[in-house]
Amino acid sequence: MAANMLRRVGGLVAARTGISTRCLSTGTGTRVSHAQAALRTADAVCFDVDSTVITTEGIDDLAAYLGCGDKVAELTAQAMQGSMPFHEALAKRLSAMNPSRDELTAMMAEHPLTLTPGIANLIKALHLREQHVYFVSGGFRQMIEPIAAQVHIAPHQIFANTLVFNDDGSFKSHLDSEPTSRAGGKAKVVADLKALHGYKTVVMVGDGATDMEARDIPGGADAFIGFGGVAVREKVKAGADWFVTSFEEMMPSVTEADGQWFLTAEDRARLMTNQHLDFMAAAQQQQQQQQQQPSI
Ligand SMILES: [Mg+2]
Repeated sequence: MAANMLRRVGGLVAARTGISTRCLSTGTGTRVSHAQAALRTADAVCFDVDSTVITTEGIDDLAAYLGCGDKVAELTAQAMQGSMPFHEALAKRLSAMNPSRDELTAMMAEHPLTLTPGIANLIKALHLREQHVYFVSGGFRQMIEPIAAQVHIAPHQIFANTLVFNDDGSFKSHLDSEPTSRAGGKAKVVADLKALHGYKTVVMVGDGATDMEARDIPGGADAFIGFGGVAVREKVKAGADWFVTSFEEMMPSVTEADGQWFLTAEDRARLMTNQHLDFMAAAQQQQQQQQQQPSI
């Protein structure tokens, strides 16, 4: 009875908020059920950042701010198509941008990065279930840390490139020791995390081919969920275990399956904002009134 009540209330909340509480969808992908089960049982979930956690490519945002957007976008496209080694493309892009510490700070203040809709709730649900969450990005740590803090991802849970500045604040280089500065770096980070922590199941989520690589190396991710909510890459759409176009599609795998809630009622309530809580209370009251009415 309580579960039915929660399901009905959840449905009403979904209608109002867009948070899906449907049973597991079939979705598209080569191994959808496998990916959904992996997400449900994962010890850790690794998210790409650009065009996944955030709605843009951070490096392109910085380049546009610095007035060299076209040149850097071209190098980014070449890197994503695999026609140029990643570390070479990264060095060329940074050389073209030559960002100072002050310019980076000003850009982030004037054009803060934006979280993709649904990601905050998904990460909150994963955290409530004590599933570890990591950001694994080819972008820059200095740009990612502020947006990561908004969803309670600590600096040590971020694997990304690091910009290095001279004492006067001018650009010096990027930290060559970051694995994400190299081809195959994201996959290496995911495999290393899995081995270091002894994770049984790890899921990688991202929009790019380098994200999908994390599934395809020995000791890598157990499932890859392609994210097409910002940009659709055909190679990723074709190769993903499960391809989604919104984070809401992933929520049922974390919160419920076959009518069984994976979150307690208390945790679900914490997942909602105060507005949602108010609406849930109203929905519960409506439900009680309906139950008191004699059935026809
Ligand atoms: Mg990306």
